[in-house]
Amino acid sequence: MTAASSALPQHFDEIYQSIPAAVTLIAVTKFLPVETIRAAYERGIRHFGESRVQEAIAKQAQLTDLPDITWHLIGHLQTNKARKAVEHFDWIHSVDSLKLAQRLDQAAQELDKLPQCCLQVKLVPDPPKHGMEAAELTELLPQFDQLVHLRLRGLMTIPPQDASPDEVRDVFAGAKDLASAINQKAFAHLHIDQLSMGMSGDYQTAIACGATMVRLGTVLFGPRPPSG
Ligand SMILES: *Cc1c(COP(=O)(O)O)cnc(C)c1O
Repeated sequence: MTAASSALPQHFDEIYQSIPAAVTLIAVTKFLPVETIRAAYERGIRHFGESRVQEAIAKQAQLTDLPDITWHLIGHLQTNKARKAVEHFDWIHSVDSLKLAQRLDQAAQELDKLPQCCLQVKLVPDPPKHGMEAAELTELLPQFDQLVHLRLRGLMTIPPQDASPDEVRDVFAGAKDLASAINQKAFAHLHIDQLSMGMSGDYQTAIACGATMVRLGTVLFGPRPPSG
């Protein structure tokens, strides 16, 4: 075993193996060093999540020998970084406004890319969080459907920090219902086949409720250093 892979917590493989094959495990490596990414890669992880564009770019520059990584942007994105996000990520989970989506679409056209995207939705009021409320999102769907340089195919949601287990379940079930309702509208372009939901504290519930992508940091890697 190399020094790098022995740096992962002992339970890493157990958690990894416990994720059903149909669910994509996104290893969240924000604030963690590239050595951790390499160690997880050696164990078979190919999907990595980062919350900040600049931090991810710096890490990617040190990992050019690992070309088959799929990079996921999971943190809030400012419109002025849309172009960089399209350049450096395969997936953007945090599309939380029409304006941001339009910027991403424009950048994708210019860069001749087709980034895969999730619309971030708040199923219950949660002032500190980014994301559109379900009603707002639903109203904007015809406009999202016109953004043909994006592959808008997912919903991403995060339950409120203080939610009870029942509320967490309701949020995840609500995301699944919303995806079905969107698909029933049969848009030309927009079709939801991914649910990005579940973090270290609630991923088992999320999987039971139909998550297709879970975003796990702490449970895989242990506590993160504080953000810089
Ligand atoms: C940090 C983060 C995660 C991972 O959180 P853990 O609780 O450490 O698993 C998942 N999703 C988003 C959007 C995050 O910002």
